[in-house]
Amino acid sequence: MTAALTLESVSKRYGGFDAVRDLSFEVPKGSICGFLGPNGAGKTSTLRMILGLQPATSGRIDILGAPDGRLVRDRIGFLPEERGLYKKMTPVEAIAFFGALKGLPSHEGKKRARQLLEQQGLGAAQKKKMKELSKGMAQKVQLIAAVVHRPEFVILDEPFSGLDPMNQQGLEEMIRGLAADGATVLFSTHVMQHAERLCDKVVLLAKGRKAFEGTVEEAKATSPRVLDLEGAI
Ligand code: ATP
Repeated sequence: MTAALTLESVSKRYGGFDAVRDLSFEVPKGSICGFLGPNGAGKTSTLRMILGLQPATSGRIDILGAPDGRLVRDRIGFLPEERGLYKKMTPVEAIAFFGALKGLPSHEGKKRARQLLEQQGLGAAQKKKMKELSKGMAQKVQLIAAVVHRPEFVILDEPFSGLDPMNQQGLEEMIRGLAADGATVLFSTHVMQHAERLCDKVVLLAKGRKAFEGTVEEAKATSPRVLDLEGAI
């Protein structure tokens, strides 16, 4: 098993507060990994360190053979927790814009945007502006924007939050499709059911520390408490 991502004893301290403590885990290449924990557990802080958006206070991170996300930026796709930017653009423009940031020529970005929107049943959305789309549609467009450059590693921060069950299912299918095409996926969530349906592996964080790493089945066998995320606070 080759690891696409390895964290070794990673910690993050804000002032006197330890947000992430001595965190180690691996994400195997080509897998879908769920990063679980209640609000405030340290998930976003960890994802930002993996992406190279903020430095770790201590420890080592290796993503796609590089010390942090900054050095392999064009090979990574990222869906941040804060969404809803570029409201005045059309979906094709927004997707091509993100592609361009990752080095994809504009005409190619637009072509791929149209293909991907059609594939996801969003053909009709092409004529609208981002601000006119439903939340579910906008979320799918933003995931397409995050992966239009065909990244090897896709990081999604709370991708299911605020979506109704139907749109959650659509997003799950998109994530499965990414892995089927060979990408490695790491997504954060505080809802165990999303991980159960999708993940080859889960890592559970509680108060900045790793509470569990393994398959969903192992997690269930180990202790039902492991799956009780609110109880893990
Ligand atoms: P959520 O889903 O609510 O975003 P999370 O698991 O992603 O939760 P983080 O956002 O990583 O958690 O935050 C972990 C802890 O670190 C929280 O207590 C938060 O208040 C604190 N924290 C995060 N960023 C900073 C910062 N820049 N300065 C100080 N404290 C911070």
